[in-house]
Amino acid sequence: MHLQDARINNQQKEFFEIPFWFQPDDHMFNLRADRFEQLAAEETSDWHKYLTFLANLCRAQQILFDRHNNQQALTLPQTDHEERPLSTLLITSHSPLINHLFNELYTLLEQQLSPTAIQVWRELRQLEQQELIQLCVKAFNQQINLAQQDYTVWINAVLQIIYTLAAKKLAKEQIKPIANIGYCPCCGTDAVGSVIIGRGNLEGLRYLQCGICNSRWHSIRAHCSFCDSSHNLTIQNIEHTSEAALAGAEAECCPNCQSYRKRYRLAKQQYADPIADDLASLALDIMLSEEQWRRGGANPFLIMT
Ligand SMILES: [Zn+2]
Ligand SMILES: [Zn+2]
Repeated sequence: MHLQDARINNQQKEFFEIPFWFQPDDHMFNLRADRFEQLAAEETSDWHKYLTFLANLCRAQQILFDRHNNQQALTLPQTDHEERPLSTLLITSHSPLINHLFNELYTLLEQQLSPTAIQVWRELRQLEQQELIQLCVKAFNQQINLAQQDYTVWINAVLQIIYTLAAKKLAKEQIKPIANIGYCPCCGTDAVGSVIIGRGNLEGLRYLQCGICNSRWHSIRAHCSFCDSSHNLTIQNIEHTSEAALAGAEAECCPNCQSYRKRYRLAKQQYADPIADDLASLALDIMLSEEQWRRGGANPFLIMT
């Protein structure tokens, strides 16, 4: 692009109001499942199995999302937090619905579960409702301990459904930028990553994505999404790769806080999803950890061991 074109483009953007918040798409779990399938088809290692399993999990999430969206099963609790509309009150005020979602998810996936996963589910289903709710609150606050890690994927899958249902009920007037831009303005979760819009009026803008309620919110690209510094930010990626996920994945590295968060260029990978593409581009994380960068961003399906 010529400099003059770029100026015109920027001037046009000044007249155009940049939406701060995007509600989750009605079909987002299916879109994510499609992406997981695409990425799994490219993966030649054993990781292929996990990506395929997550595609099936997302399909089940979509079925449950549609079912409960239609039934209007969820009512928004009064907010107990001045910065954001959704908190753990959403969990504690919907115990029967959450219990029900666990049972429904298990029924949908039962045929595909490994013996190990069936054992994990057996333990989960034996919990008293109150214990299960407490575990969900801990998972939401990212306080699950090592002994409970096996439950994480299942609990996060249920949390995603209920928080996405809730985010669909919010009006844009309720969503305000919060002090720490890296946290979701709806539910306060640390962003899993971001996308750089590939075309249209919003081309080139950065939208961070919540891994729990699936909201997306705008933040200025020139600033670190952890410490807000705008000095010497660098972008790292894996060059000359033919793998789809790695071709679109980049890491925004900030020397001020020594952290990075991943982002995905939709111009290069139109269907990139910050949760799915993150899990298919871990080679980038390995490269950065060798260079002592600290990973930021919570992926609900990434189990750290
Ligand atoms: Zn959120
Ligand atoms: Zn920083």
